[in-house]
Amino acid sequence: MNSRLARLRHVVLDMDGTLYSGSRLFDTTLPFLSTLDSLGIGHTFLTNNTSRSRADYVSKLQKLGIPASGSDIYTAADSTIAYLRDELAGVRRIALLGTPSLCAQFEEEGFVVDWNDPQAVVVGFDTTLDYARLCRTAWWISRGLPYLATHPDYVCPTSEPIVLVDCGSICACLEAATGGRKPVVLGKPDPSILRALAKRRGVAGGEMAMVGDRLYTDVELAQRAGALAVLVLSGEATAEEAARRQPPPDMVVSDVGEFGRTLCEARAEASPL
Ligand SMILES: [Mg+2]
Repeated sequence: MNSRLARLRHVVLDMDGTLYSGSRLFDTTLPFLSTLDSLGIGHTFLTNNTSRSRADYVSKLQKLGIPASGSDIYTAADSTIAYLRDELAGVRRIALLGTPSLCAQFEEEGFVVDWNDPQAVVVGFDTTLDYARLCRTAWWISRGLPYLATHPDYVCPTSEPIVLVDCGSICACLEAATGGRKPVVLGKPDPSILRALAKRRGVAGGEMAMVGDRLYTDVELAQRAGALAVLVLSGEATAEEAARRQPPPDMVVSDVGEFGRTLCEARAEASPL
């Protein structure tokens, strides 16, 4: 394990449950990020949530006191764009069921939102969902166009008395309405999100760690993409659930602080003074 830790060049960080809980920053987060800096290990904040833009995440992280810029953040929208470019080259016009900020991100990358003559359909976490557009989306899916979902989550976690119906549930509705068509689902835990990020950061899968609090997204993603799978117990998964998981995560730590200390020890062992 220590040799794998000593080789790490980049750490991919889930956010909620890993660095903070809702609006409460964990005490260990800022010292951990400083540790990564001092070891010369890069980091990226990763989220499946496509209802918010990169700029929204920058301001959320900065409000919590976490230094961040747009290039530090990678979302399921980025991996969907990478998939379109790699697998559906030539597609420019898309029927996009998403928030105005998601539409803006696709447009900045050269795509055109076109409800009259699209070449593919993309469904995101549309918190501005509108019935007419939902029906139009179902129409284009029923016509057999390539169909992508930005991420699989059925609900978005919240502490408010509400269920936030997420991308996976919107796709389940569309599946029922289109004779059972299912999308190609990007975002965590599809390994393409980590592969696209590795390419962008110029590192190999084995030089990356994925740190998160969910077994079925964060750990699953790391394992599928060949990255070091680090589970933190500061969020959703419990130690008992982690012990039952097959294959188990590479590391289970109480929080990112413990991961940082383990990294320092591994480095010291690999290159003693
Ligand atoms: Mg999380």
